[in-house]
Order: sequence, then structure tokens, then C-alpha cells
Amino acid sequence: MSVGTTWAGSHTYAARELRRPTSLAELAELVAAEPHLRALGSRHSFTDLADSPGVLVDVTGLPGEVEVDASRRVARVPAGLRYGDLATTLHQAGWALAALASLPHISVAGAVATGTHGSGDAVGSLAAAVAAVELVDGRGEHVRLARGDSDFPGAVVALGALGIVTALELDVEPTYDVRQVVLEGLTWDALLDRTDEVTAAAYSVSVFTRWTGEQVGQVWLKERGEPRVLDGTRPAAGQRHMIAGMAVENTTPQLGAPGPWHERLPHFRMGFTPSAGEELQSEFFVPRARLAEALAAVREIGAELEPELLVSEVRTIAGDDLWLSGAYGGDAAALHFTWERRPLQVLPLLDRLERVLLPLGARPHWGKVFRAHADVVTPRYPRMGDFIDLAGRFDPDGRLRNEWTAQTLGL
Ligand SMILES: Cc1cc2nc3c(=O)[nH]c(=O)nc-3n(C[C@H](O)[C@H](O)[C@H](O)COP(=O)(O)OP(=O)(O)OC[C@H]3O[C@@H](n4cnc5c(N)ncnc54)[C@H](O)[C@@H]3O)c2cc1C
Repeated sequence: MSVGTTWAGSHTYAARELRRPTSLAELAELVAAEPHLRALGSRHSFTDLADSPGVLVDVTGLPGEVEVDASRRVARVPAGLRYGDLATTLHQAGWALAALASLPHISVAGAVATGTHGSGDAVGSLAAAVAAVELVDGRGEHVRLARGDSDFPGAVVALGALGIVTALELDVEPTYDVRQVVLEGLTWDALLDRTDEVTAAAYSVSVFTRWTGEQVGQVWLKERGEPRVLDGTRPAAGQRHMIAGMAVENTTPQLGAPGPWHERLPHFRMGFTPSAGEELQSEFFVPRARLAEALAAVREIGAELEPELLVSEVRTIAGDDLWLSGAYGGDAAALHFTWERRPLQVLPLLDRLERVLLPLGARPHWGKVFRAHADVVTPRYPRMGDFIDLAGRFDPDGRLRNEWTAQTLGL
């Protein structure tokens, strides 16, 4: 029976079977028996990244609960849990995470594996919160890697290439409230002139735009204190969706009302459709210091992108030391594109976009759609050679490799 498609319907998995082991022993046996397999999370990446010529493994049947170690300020979390369910459990116990992505529907292991991020000048990606990773590697062996271990920075954003992750330890902090405000009226002149001021306007800032015209679009502020209003902007008079015509009920509460962190940091509500649904997404990380330059460069080609573009989002991410992270080695900014689900029209636009952004040092988001192959991608990661060595040690028979890893990493 077909394994089905990605969440967006953008790829039909070619794997022959989906297996859901219910114990670590069963998982280890499966890994030892199958010449080709990969982990599948909640299917929110857009390509054949998670696919396998053999078997896909769903880890949601493995035993395990969320366990908080208050003295170490970490939570041990089953890998297949969705952030929305994890966040509710943590909040009820008085704890919080520093960051969440735009949607709570994604699995923890799948999000971490691709370097998924939210926004904030001082806020790291979701992977930056990982304190330890537990996995069954390509040899069928249980391995735990923790911060401080020499291989650890290569084992967090690992694209499913080292093993099937069974649990993660995440940094937690006491629970906190967030107020969300949407600002309107920001002009392109002001954004390009005062880029740093805009991204620093709140704990987490997302700028939504369609690139054309004098007005930028919406600026979503998520603030742990009192939100500020940027000069030349005004708070929106009602609840907003960033995509024209989509239901505002799908978005988390705005209008400045305080509420728990997990009900404000994501843009979309659990139990409701995030984003548009039938879509493609692309995203490129650039060094934070080159954000204004990148914005101006994309704006130059904005009219060409517009027919296929639903919306773009600009965010910032604090730098980290995770070898395959988009923010490896320094603070980053991410330029995101939500496209119509029309690959024939979108792929040439990606070629155009990459011609503009790659010279600025851009790294593509692993979970989204991009055109660059290993020859262009791998030199952008100074520790890529170490990652390839690590994958060779953890998966010597190449059970966890697929067409995507060959094309993108040369693995
Ligand atoms: C509507 C929407 C909004 C999004 N918003 C954001 C956003 O705000 N920020 C952002 O950065 N990204 C965003 N993304 C992208 C998304 O976060 C990533 O694609 C992420 O990888 C999805 O997690 P998943 O569990 O669905 O992973 P999948 O797509 O199922 O798998 C992705 C990768 O993770 C690996 N993997 C999954 N589980 C395991 C495991 N147990 N062990 C080892 N490897 C594993 C897979 O093998 C694969 O390589 C969004 C996507 C959608 C559809």
C-alpha cells in the first residue's frame, strides 16, 4: 500500500512500506534487517528528503513520556511528539521552550533534523535547544550524544542520515506569557533604512511581504514584555492572516492580549490548517549582516516572483555551532517564500532567486524546495566534511541514504 504524500501533497513517497515499531528492540531489529530505511516525521517537509527506496519508520509508537529534570532545566521528549502536544504538557508543568516554529503541528525530531526555526535576533533555532540526542544508528546500535561530546554538533541537524532518533533532551525555562501584535503601514524605504531596528522590535519578529509596491505588508511582533509600535506603523485593527483570503481563525491570538508562550509564538493554531495547504515552500538563510542587501536584491525581482507567490516571511535566528544549521557560525536571517503548488512555474523562479541569493552566502532550508545541488550546497557548511565522516561511521552500509542525500550532500 502506498505510504502517501507529504503534508502539502508536494511529493508522493516511493518507499514500499511504513513501519511503526512499538519498542526500541523492534526498531533495532528493523534497522538491522532493512537495507534501506529512513525516519518519517509529520510529513511537513516538501520534497523527497524523508523518502527511502525501502521502508519509512514512524517513531510515534515507541514508548516514552515527557520528563522534566528541573535541576538540569531539560525535558526528555519522545522523538515523534508534535511541538503542540509537547508545549501543552510543558506549560501545564510550569515550563516553556525559548522558540517555536510558525506551526505547532510538526514532530520534534523532524523539525530538529532540518534546522527548523522561529524568529528573534537573540532566539536560536529549535535545534539550538537540543541538549542530547538518542538514536538507533545505521548499525542498529543505541547511541546517546550530549552537548560537550565532540560529535554532538553534527548529530542534531542531521537530516535523518545518522539514525532513527528516539528521544531528545531540550532546554526548558519557566513558562512565560507573550503578547502578539500585528503592525501595518511599514514602507520599504523604512525597512531597508532601519532593518536592524525592525528585527529588534520584539522578542520575535516576522515581516510578511509580497515584495512589490511601496508598502511592505505586515510585521508580526511577539513580545515577552510590552510590545512597542515601530515609528510609521500602526497596530492592525483586527485579527490577521498573512495570506490574503485565508481564515483568520487559523492564526494565534493577536491584538496584544497576553497568553501562554505556546499560544502566541507559532503563527498557526493546533487543530487548524496552517499556512495555505496546497503549497510549496522555499527558504534561504543569509548572514544576518547581509539582510538589508538580500531584501533589496529580492525586491528587484519581486514582480517576477509575484504570480506564484502567496507570501514571503523574513525572520532572524541567533547563530549556533550545529554543523548543518542554517545559522552555523553566526547570526542569520531567513527569507521564506510560500508558493502556489505549481512546480513547473515555481522551479524557474527558484533558479532566478538562487542566482540572486547564493552570491550573498545563502544556505537553503533543508526541509523546503531548492535547486542547488551538492557542488553548490556543501561548500557553504565549513564542517560538512566532518558531517560526511560522521554519517559514514554511524551508517557504514548507507542504509539511511536516499536520492536526496546523494544529490544535495553527495552522500
Ligand atoms: C505549513 C508549514 C509551515 C512551516 N513553518 C516552518 C517554520 O516556521 N520554520 C521552519 O524552519 N520550517 C518550517 N516548516 C518546515 C518544517 O518545519 C520542516 O520541513 C520539518 O522538517 C518538518 O518536520 P516533520 O516532522 O514534518 O519532518 P518530515 O518532513 O517528516 O521529515 C523531515 C526530515 O526529518 C527526518 N526525521 C523525521 N523524524 C526523524 C527521526 N525520528 N529520526 C531521525 N530523523 C527524522 C526525516 O528523515 C527527514 O530527513 C514549515 C512547513 C510547513 C508545511
